[in-house]
Amino acid sequence: MMLRTGYWRYAGRPGILRAGPHVLATLLMVAAALSCTAPSCMAETIGTGAIPILVYHRFDPVRRGPTTVTIAAFERQLDWLAAHRYRIVPLRQAVDILQDIAASDGPVAAITADDGHVSVYTQLYPIILRRHVPVTLFLYPSAISRASYALTWAQLAEMLRSGLVSVQSHTYWHPNFRVERARLAPDAYRTFIADQLARSKSVLAQHLAVPIDMLAWPFGIADPELCAAARRAGYRAAFGYGGGAARPGVDPMDIPRIPMSDISMPGAIAEHPPAARLTTRLTTTPERAAP
Ligand SMILES: [Zn+2]
Repeated sequence: MMLRTGYWRYAGRPGILRAGPHVLATLLMVAAALSCTAPSCMAETIGTGAIPILVYHRFDPVRRGPTTVTIAAFERQLDWLAAHRYRIVPLRQAVDILQDIAASDGPVAAITADDGHVSVYTQLYPIILRRHVPVTLFLYPSAISRASYALTWAQLAEMLRSGLVSVQSHTYWHPNFRVERARLAPDAYRTFIADQLARSKSVLAQHLAVPIDMLAWPFGIADPELCAAARRAGYRAAFGYGGGAARPGVDPMDIPRIPMSDISMPGAIAEHPPAARLTTRLTTTPERAAP
């Protein structure tokens, strides 16, 4: 059954070393896209009019893995944005600014979290409420209220009622489209794409009664065929994984995001002032597990 097969394939293999060569290749590509290593890279990456759209996965009081950001690190990253006068806006507003539908009176940033891990509710949500920060969650609904690590529909409904959390699509079960294209005949692959894009929209909208018109590509994999399918499915914007800050005029079906990780080397951190420290982390740290 497609749902169970795909769902468990992703859920059971979160680590890069266990994810198989196709995922490894994807992540190496992402790492290459994020190869800026100079501390001054922030200034180059986030220029005038560019919007840093940050992407997180899991949160925890202590570091537990490469895609987990500790609460302390996350708060420091928010502090850095505030200290540099970035206003955190809802993702929809960021897209409006990128598409020249809305204006911005200063630097803005947006925060997203992919995959619907339960720590979004237990760890991130209290910070969202306390600091009044808007966050968009990209979800693959096959896992919601089913997987032990995933959010529940009730938790999502509660967070949506805050007005600070919004929900969008991360396809239906988080497939690797490169793998599926190699596995399926062309007609079957096109049907598969359409189903993943449409079913995610309909299930999320049905459970949460919100419009679903934005998409995060699983593993950051996007190509012209996928982008065209996303447009046909009614998505107004789709987001990648890596590529730096988003600039006005960007392809709305492949908007870059900045993967966020934890600060894991206290010795190295102590060598840098806070702004430089966070500047480096904001622009140079690729995720090392499946995005
Ligand atoms: Zn993901």
